[in-house]
Amino acid sequence: MSNVMSKYIHMNGKLVPFDEAKVHVLSVGITYASTVFEGLRGYWNEAEQQVYVFRLDAHCRRLMESMKLLRMEHRFTEEDLAASVLGLVRANELREDAHIRQLAFVEGIGPIGTSGPVGLAVTATPSYRLFDSEKGVACAISSWRRISDDCLPPRIKCVANYQNGRHAFVQAKLDGYDSVIMLNSRGKVAEGPTMCVFLVRHGQVVTPAISSDVLESITRATVIQLFEEYHGIEVVEREVDRTEFYVADEAFFCGTACEVLPITSVDRHPVGDGRVGALTGQIQTTYNSIVRGVVPDHAEWRTGVYRG
Ligand code: PMP
Repeated sequence: MSNVMSKYIHMNGKLVPFDEAKVHVLSVGITYASTVFEGLRGYWNEAEQQVYVFRLDAHCRRLMESMKLLRMEHRFTEEDLAASVLGLVRANELREDAHIRQLAFVEGIGPIGTSGPVGLAVTATPSYRLFDSEKGVACAISSWRRISDDCLPPRIKCVANYQNGRHAFVQAKLDGYDSVIMLNSRGKVAEGPTMCVFLVRHGQVVTPAISSDVLESITRATVIQLFEEYHGIEVVEREVDRTEFYVADEAFFCGTACEVLPITSVDRHPVGDGRVGALTGQIQTTYNSIVRGVVPDHAEWRTGVYRG
């Protein structure tokens, strides 16, 4: 098969060849989308000949929380989840940047309330990047509203949630934009389809609060901490209006996949002078050096695959 992306996929405790990682079509993870997941990045550090998985513990913890919120009947521990990631990257002999995905799904066949058994699949493939993070993206505000905590909680990283982001993203692409920001049901800014959003105005860095119907993003938390520790800036977490982006000096997305991604226009209003903002560039540099382990700080956020 031409789309083989790695040697192995981890399926329920076993390493199986890429083409053989199969799930029954009637499993509730497919029929009713009872599937939760995590996306992680592994960063190749050339000097240390090492792949560092970024914030592995935080991703495993969030996967446990997602399974809890979906009332999945499973027996995994955070340690099991972490070990399966490290074992797979090693088995695939990846010595480059990697994209890693953990999927937990109701493997049982049955009616909508079926909660087990729960299967675990992990993939680790060479990494890809959808956007040019040096150039930035032209963004629309979507007419599709973000799902809310009282209907399909965005806090959970459930695959069903992604249809909401996909509606907005595909529409924005058809309309000629690179990406999109969604408002929540209260008309306040929420997030992008797979990323959180920040703006800078009058020197203040602002991001929608965790109660604005956003995923509890690990990158968002990382960026907030790095702004404080490395740039002396306390990020303000609050409700954000759409028009604040029209008059912002800078704006950017963040997430595991897009890392720090500058936004250069919103609804065709140039953000600042329409180029990558100064603070955006600085936090991008700080983030990139931490995740890859170019600087020794925050070693606790990086798990080396090829040691112990
Ligand atoms: N929001 C949504 C809807 C996402 O899918 C993601 C990607 N996981 C993010 C934000 C960013 O989250 P994280 O930093 O944990 O990758």
